[in-house]
Amino acid sequence: MSEARASTTAASPPTTWRTWGGTVTAQPTAVHTPASTAEVVDLVRGALERGERLRPVGSGHSFTPIAEPIDAHVRLDLMCGILAADLAAGSVTVAAGTPLHELSPALERIGLGMVNLGDIDRQSISGAVSTGTHGTGAGLTGLAGAVRGLTFVAGDGTVHRVHRDRDPDLVSLLAVGLGAYGIVTELELDVLPAYRLHAVERPEPLAAVLDDAEEIAAAHRHFEFYWFPHTDRVLTKRNDPAEDGAGTPLPRWREHLDDHLLSNVLFEGLNRLVTRLPGLAPRINQVSARALSRREFTDASHRVFCTRREVRFVESEYAIPRASLAPVLRELDAWIERSGEHIAFPVEVRFAAADDVALSTAYRRDSAYVAIHQYHRRHMSRYLAAFEAIVAEHDGRPHWGKLHTLDAERLGRLYPRLADARALRERLDPAGVFSNDYLDRVLG
Ligand SMILES: Cc1cc2nc3c(=O)[nH]c(=O)nc-3n(C[C@H](O)[C@H](O)[C@H](O)COP(=O)(O)OP(=O)(O)OC[C@H]3O[C@@H](n4cnc5c(N)ncnc54)[C@H](O)[C@@H]3O)c2cc1C
Repeated sequence: MSEARASTTAASPPTTWRTWGGTVTAQPTAVHTPASTAEVVDLVRGALERGERLRPVGSGHSFTPIAEPIDAHVRLDLMCGILAADLAAGSVTVAAGTPLHELSPALERIGLGMVNLGDIDRQSISGAVSTGTHGTGAGLTGLAGAVRGLTFVAGDGTVHRVHRDRDPDLVSLLAVGLGAYGIVTELELDVLPAYRLHAVERPEPLAAVLDDAEEIAAAHRHFEFYWFPHTDRVLTKRNDPAEDGAGTPLPRWREHLDDHLLSNVLFEGLNRLVTRLPGLAPRINQVSARALSRREFTDASHRVFCTRREVRFVESEYAIPRASLAPVLRELDAWIERSGEHIAFPVEVRFAAADDVALSTAYRRDSAYVAIHQYHRRHMSRYLAAFEAIVAEHDGRPHWGKLHTLDAERLGRLYPRLADARALRERLDPAGVFSNDYLDRVLG
């Protein structure tokens, strides 16, 4: 079932590495592409001997410097595909380098589907799980909540296989692992029989949606909305399993019009315009929010979850208690109007159920997520500072892969198990083979 790809332990010549959002650039001394767990062991042992540091990296879609290398990068591009599937048990084992856009169609071909996904599928499964990537669904956890077991190579070159049936506490600590404990080579995940989703998207007033947000989220498998700053309008998205599989996908022309021409080509043009003339943002948002029309379609779950994001942006996202959602959005709205800041990118709101994953943003807390975005050519610092000040009052927990300024001291008050995570890191990576500045800042 897994794809055989050419094996090589040789390092590629260094080139500049850049995150998708352009937030971090680095010059790794080497880029290693092992093809097996044994080759990862050799790499780690070699690095230990030479006193080098290795940073596992996925597809570079984090906005934080979480995957920034001090010395070399390790990419698992050659470790890709489904290694085993147990349809009766609802589980699959996947190679850690598998990108989500390959994983979902491969699962569909054998009659399976991911329990939930975020809004794009360009990430690697290991990168997505390691930072606590999530989609939306009041009764559903993020991707790490679906982790049954992991195989990884620790900082001393030893191979570990952990499973939640045998050691739930260790899996809880390792799932959102930030790439701090080792290089994950395989993941066992909960999956569902392949399913189709019926999507209903429509514009609505912000106030009405905020009043009922928790009830709406509870009534649908997936509910999210995008609020257009400077307006009182939102675009809501409700996705539910399609009854008896009925319903049709969007016609090709409509998909092309909405998801390519409007969401990407036109939106890029508007953002370039707003970069030169920021004062146009409120008027553009008014027009965009009014121009959005209702659409309804049914498709394979992964095609409904994920869209194309071609307009480059930077993002920060915090998980907050659900009851804090309305106050946070109202305070953010008030700040935007008071500050004179012009924001053309919508604010995204999603939901997740409490989980038991130690470094998950939804650890033991039913959560709402608020994400702010800014076009990559515009400054984010004032907006980010105001947003962080607002969510701080509500015990907001930052997404590990999205911009935030918190350090271990503050994070320790938000994540009750941060000290356990730090102790585990010291045990599994005593020489700091996987360390970088970001990990030292957030874990201490
Ligand atoms: C356009 C866009 C849309 C996004 N949408 C969402 C969304 O809907 N929901 C959401 O929650 N997030 C979202 N994100 C954030 C994104 O999902 C995370 O930042 C994710 O970690 C990126 O995965 P990656 O493969 O690019 O990992 P990278 O950014 O390359 O790495 C992330 C972390 O994973 C570690 N890692 C990677 N591979 C391994 C391995 N084999 N073993 C151990 N550690 C490893 C790295 O060391 C690093 O710490 C989005 C980001 C972008 C740019």
